Amino acid sequence: MNPLAPGLSWLDLQFLGRPHAIASVVLQSAGSVAVIDPGPSTCREALDLGLQRQGVQWRDVTHILLTHIHLDHAGATGGIIAEHPHVRVAVHERGAPHMIDPSKLVASASRLWPGEMERLWGDVRPVPEKNLTILSGGEQLEAGGRTFEVAYTPGHASHHVSYFDRSSGTAFVGDTAGMSIDGGYVLPPTPPPDIDLELWRESVARIEAWSPSALFMTHFGLVTAVRTHLQSLLDNLAATAAMVRVSLEAPGTDEERSARFAEHVRREMRRGMTDGQVEAYGLSAPFHLLWLGLARYWRKRGVA
Ligand SMILES: [Zn+2]
Repeated sequence: MNPLAPGLSWLDLQFLGRPHAIASVVLQSAGSVAVIDPGPSTCREALDLGLQRQGVQWRDVTHILLTHIHLDHAGATGGIIAEHPHVRVAVHERGAPHMIDPSKLVASASRLWPGEMERLWGDVRPVPEKNLTILSGGEQLEAGGRTFEVAYTPGHASHHVSYFDRSSGTAFVGDTAGMSIDGGYVLPPTPPPDIDLELWRESVARIEAWSPSALFMTHFGLVTAVRTHLQSLLDNLAATAAMVRVSLEAPGTDEERSARFAEHVRREMRRGMTDGQVEAYGLSAPFHLLWLGLARYWRKRGVA
């Protein structure tokens, strides 16, 4: 159990047996328990065990809050609802259709992770429409004994929201504030297909406007140096985007370009981190996919 504030804690889902790759958040009060981003189906055992250790039964859980529908955050949701149909699921309006019918989501993920779907993410089951609380951003949401402010925070994904708990000062930002494992390199996860640099910068400004005292990131954990962290994210996003833009004009195939980019990112990160830590980033955000997402962004804008 990793307490953040009274009634607020996180658990490590031990994704593929690795610590500090994917986290879930648990909010507890007498009448209501909420889980933010339950993770992929392959971590379901770790999730159940983590909840149990905190004295939580699924029958006590009233809400699942999704920051976005990527499988490393939301893949387990349908399976949970099949077993516990009383749980409500909050999701952005653009993500909702893909929770009801995940076939396109699964097809798109299968293109990014060919032959790896079962090992990485496991089962992806539909969520009945009646279980959904559909968000567009700007609303308030009561869950886990708290009132969350909801903000639409696209850039990483077009269906991304962030949740702010003003009582603890913590903003739950999914992937919008990037990844930083053990306080290391702040990596902007930029997989296809939704990357949008302008929207991402606006989303960061929206999070900053809350003046949070801490950010909670799915990958991985709590950051209290909020301004420094968000500045590093914006700097690294600009740098990796520029690198991909330049690579589009370099000779070679996309495969070669993305391999060179991946090697560069890996080298940068190894300066301050162990191989194991660098690998934990690559589990959810393989570096060649980060190139692909940014290349798609530039090509949509007619670059190269
Ligand atoms: Zn994501």
